Amino acid sequence: MSPPCSRCASQRVINLETARKLGTTAGALAGSIKGAYVSLYSPSRLLVSSVQFPLSRIAVAVMGAATGGIAGASAGNRMVQHLLPPGEGTPWLCWGCGHAFRVLN
Ligand SMILES: [Zn+2]
Repeated sequence: MSPPCSRCASQRVINLETARKLGTTAGALAGSIKGAYVSLYSPSRLLVSSVQFPLSRIAVAVMGAATGGIAGASAGNRMVQHLLPPGEGTPWLCWGCGHAFRVLN
């Protein structure tokens, strides 16, 4: 159960720990797609020379996806991280007024 906002008493609050996990996942996913896309379609000499070897082209795309995923995940994590108020307890963010606060368990 979520606590009411400590500023406007709204019940519409989200758990920032959950948001951080979602942000990390979404960032990783977006980063992976972007990484794979860039690896497949960037006009680099490496890709031109690997046309005869389609498997290495896929390997490059997988590598790009992994790299992009890691970068995306840390970006998503950082994005939520700066919303987190300092201190102990479960972090919450109010949808109503945008107030971030912590509640000790
Ligand atoms: Zn509020």
